[in-house]
Amino acid sequence: MANISSDVRNYFKLELLSTRSYGPLRQLFKNRYSQFNGGQIWNDTPTCGTTYLTNVIKKNKKISLTKVQNVSVSNGDSNEWDLTTITALLIYGDRPKTLNAAEVQQLDEENKLLEQLREIRNKLVHHASKSVATVEFNQLWTDLATILVALGDTDTELDKLKDASIFEAPTQVINEDNVKEASRLNTLATQAHNDGKFFDAIALFTKATVLPGVLEHDRAIFYSKMSSSRLALYEKQQKGASSNFEINDREDQRYLALRDAKQARNLWLTWWKGHFRVGKVYAAINEHDKAVNSFERALALEPTKNEIQKELDDSRHIFGRQMRYEYLDPQYSPKTVSEHFNAIHETLGIDPENLQTLHSLVDQLGLDVADVLKGHKYEHGDIDIKQDYEQAAKYYAKAARHGSAAGMYYLARLTDLGLGVKKDHDMAHKLFEQAAEQSAEHPKFKDRPNVGVADAENALGLHYAEGVGVHKHAATAVYWYQRAVDHGNAEAANSLALMYQRGNGVEKNLDKAEQLFELSARRRDSNAMLNLAELLLDKNDFEMAQRWFNRACKSGNILAQTNRTNFEKTLRDKKQLLDGSSPSALPMINTIKKTFDSLKLSTSISELSNKSSKYDYNALSKYANRGSITAKRLCNALEYFLSVLEILTHPGTLTEQQEDSLVHELSECYRLEHIVAQFPIIEMQQNVGQIVDRALRRCREVPDYPASQLDEDARVCYGSLRMDSKELIDQFLNSCRQKYPKSIYFFEMSTSINGWLEKYDTVVYNANAGLELDPNNSNLLIDKAVAWRQLEHYSEAIEAYKTFLTVAPRDHRKVPDAYYSMAICYLTLKRDDDLDVAKKMYEQGEEAEKLQLPCFLPYESNGKNLLKLVFNIPNLINTKAAPKAATPVVDHKSRLTDPNRIEIIKRHRKWQVDIIEHRKKSQVSIPFYNKPRLQQQTAKSLVGLKAISLREMDPTKDHVYQGYVLSVTIIEEAYTWIPSIHIVIEDEHHQCEQMFIFNFPDGQGEHLTSKVYTNGAKMHIINPYHRLGANDAKPLIRVDDFSSIIMQNESDRVINMCRCCGEPNAVHVCSGCKKARYCSKECQTMDWKLYDHKIICKKQ
Ligand SMILES: [Zn+2]
Ligand SMILES: [Zn+2]
Repeated sequence: MANISSDVRNYFKLELLSTRSYGPLRQLFKNRYSQFNGGQIWNDTPTCGTTYLTNVIKKNKKISLTKVQNVSVSNGDSNEWDLTTITALLIYGDRPKTLNAAEVQQLDEENKLLEQLREIRNKLVHHASKSVATVEFNQLWTDLATILVALGDTDTELDKLKDASIFEAPTQVINEDNVKEASRLNTLATQAHNDGKFFDAIALFTKATVLPGVLEHDRAIFYSKMSSSRLALYEKQQKGASSNFEINDREDQRYLALRDAKQARNLWLTWWKGHFRVGKVYAAINEHDKAVNSFERALALEPTKNEIQKELDDSRHIFGRQMRYEYLDPQYSPKTVSEHFNAIHETLGIDPENLQTLHSLVDQLGLDVADVLKGHKYEHGDIDIKQDYEQAAKYYAKAARHGSAAGMYYLARLTDLGLGVKKDHDMAHKLFEQAAEQSAEHPKFKDRPNVGVADAENALGLHYAEGVGVHKHAATAVYWYQRAVDHGNAEAANSLALMYQRGNGVEKNLDKAEQLFELSARRRDSNAMLNLAELLLDKNDFEMAQRWFNRACKSGNILAQTNRTNFEKTLRDKKQLLDGSSPSALPMINTIKKTFDSLKLSTSISELSNKSSKYDYNALSKYANRGSITAKRLCNALEYFLSVLEILTHPGTLTEQQEDSLVHELSECYRLEHIVAQFPIIEMQQNVGQIVDRALRRCREVPDYPASQLDEDARVCYGSLRMDSKELIDQFLNSCRQKYPKSIYFFEMSTSINGWLEKYDTVVYNANAGLELDPNNSNLLIDKAVAWRQLEHYSEAIEAYKTFLTVAPRDHRKVPDAYYSMAICYLTLKRDDDLDVAKKMYEQGEEAEKLQLPCFLPYESNGKNLLKLVFNIPNLINTKAAPKAATPVVDHKSRLTDPNRIEIIKRHRKWQVDIIEHRKKSQVSIPFYNKPRLQQQTAKSLVGLKAISLREMDPTKDHVYQGYVLSVTIIEEAYTWIPSIHIVIEDEHHQCEQMFIFNFPDGQGEHLTSKVYTNGAKMHIINPYHRLGANDAKPLIRVDDFSSIIMQNESDRVINMCRCCGEPNAVHVCSGCKKARYCSKECQTMDWKLYDHKIICKKQ
């Protein structure tokens, strides 16, 4: 034990300190029990426990305990409760309504301590290395000690624990006779255990543990051995290890084994075996996360014991599979070969009979594949073969000996699971490594993956991520996952995405995570579909979130299927919450909500508005510094709003003074820019509503109810918070304007509300009244203009818009709309040259959009959409809704490194090169041609066609999108046209896909590939056929009906498009091929390295 490092010692010192909290916590529980139950005493009996469990715990939804924890509560003995149980009971226990304010405050303060304690405790438990460096140790020690002292521990006692004495045997008064007797009992009990008489062993150990005056470390040994006897007894009773993990009563030997093991551990915290025993029991009841934690502690104390490492590997392996829901994953459910064929038939439409023939052909050829196939048959069973893991392992081993990567991989899997061969994670790891060393390309069939290589790489990633057979090492896991992803593995893409999502082993990058989830989903991993759905939900992209969720369900993901109601409810709730507010404030709302959820109310509240927020304070202040008045206003409003949040997050109840200043700050925010005042959660807004009500009431209670700043502020807030009750607030505002005739905000609110009520006369009247106070008030001017337009007084409206434009800042968010609205007014007036004026206004509107602050982009204007129709601005399909702010703005750079994009473009280029090579050699065209499974049909009319984008097409479905139009730009052209023209297209969301065009008119191939379907050309595809490739099941867009392609105007073409990023007017030309153009050196380098331009450079 001398070789324990000081960091590990630190860890166990903290452990010891935190276990000291049990005493005070138990006392606290008993006190509260008595306080809440009219003086009743908790006497640690089962009667007490059982009543408490049925009457209190089962009814409390906030307390969720495991089976074992439930049993320990029903047992009543609070000494047996673990820290999780007791803190849960204390923190979430219901309080009687009769408590007075002081009592409530006391409980709140205690709970705060408990939460801190729990947090430190969790930190310790999840410390993977079970070692704590000195700086962290000192911090944690101080934190823990402070909590313990606050809970009633004595200061001086605690410091004694800080020295190394816990690693030595405690000094104790010893009773020599009892020590001798205990030793005798121990010998007898051990003998009984070895003879298989577990019952006797337990009885003897029990006697040994209760003797007074025996060394604590000796008692720890007795308890440890007793725990082991109990597990053995249980297995004997069950005739082998049971698959029933339910523990329902305190007589269950496993429950008792756990209790004994914990006793052993607590008596001798620095003895590895106590932790090991606890781990063994947890493993036996299938709580592998806890088992892992205990084994890790045992290993920290005794790093060289193989016995511990083996159990740890095992529990990590099982826990990892549980976490990945592997048992629910359809791809892991056993499939017979014929079931497998049917599945292929379903997704790819390949006739099972053909596959069968192929299989028997392979069999006759006697390739290694045949052995692997036989192995499969034995592993999963087949019509003519009974399932037999041993046989399966034999065939895999045979294939492996002949160098088959698949053989190595499948054998490794069986070895990892201990099926048909002895379970051996080290051996499995070696086999995975061997398989991963093989060439990723099939040794005989070029361009075909060498089955087993990518799977093995993925398995190695999992081993490193979970620490099975190797040291946990996230960065190495990332390395293997990436390799597996590059070699086409779906599951690894999902795992790697999770690493990026959590910033585990790699820098956190949500864009990357999303791209990888999508890549994995395109490779049909249903977990990735579900993860992608959740990520999109987080980003408030509700439509795509729902789409991917449905795809996950359809792919048979049981987790998704069983959680459908939950998912959809969350989605609805979120939508509802956000519909009431400006969509542009969503990112900020999300950030704030998350911060609140985690209950970490940081002092610097300005951090809450995160960088990606639309109303990002930092970004806005840059514009403000450059002189933008609009940005300055928003900044000031945000400052007020953030100080409101700051007051709200004050711990405890707010004082009257705090409430009043909250009302003031909020009213100032509303006066400046009400749109930034978005409360992250409904409860918060309700809370603020109550605060405002109280402030109003206080004002009203003053005799004669005089005008005051507080009253005015409270009214501003009251009206703004209840804008939804329009009629009521309209009335209320009347009284406000009378009492505060100089307050312009009440006029602004009135015009807005009357606009919604469509009482346009009133709008004009109120606006004019307000403008007498403040002739340059842009809000009043714009509302007045809109009202005149609605009243069909177009000339007055135009005048009002003009006045607005002269006073409003150039980047006022209503400026573009003012131009568009004026254009509509001119059009409606239909005087002589009004059409030209209208067009000019339209152009000015578009110009004005360019000046808008980023938070108001993309700019939304109904007027603009209307005008587009009238002017017939090239826009064939206009049925699509205007883009919502929630639509993810694809980051320019991150799109270019999207693995999906890289894969598609590289595949395209490789295919082109291969075909050119092939033709050079054989001088004949390649005769392969797969018939389409589905038939595209010519559209009868363009009317009523709906727009569709690539992401709306299910990448796992072979499907013709009848009645839809896909609008795309060509980003990769074709160099050949036999047997079909292959290009790569990109849609409005910068998603790309391969496209194959068949059945073009004879003799036009050259013309089409060199003149028409060239880079930068734009086209519409009617009734697009989303096809899964016949050979590789990779998605592509297939055109069989040549007339379904409608080229857009040449004038829309992207001229001299950059081959990498797609920007127009690229000036650099590749010196190799003299053809590819680039906007910059970066783009050229990227195209060369990432997209393999090198392979096509010389071929064109
Ligand atoms: Zn470029
Ligand atoms: Zn080139």
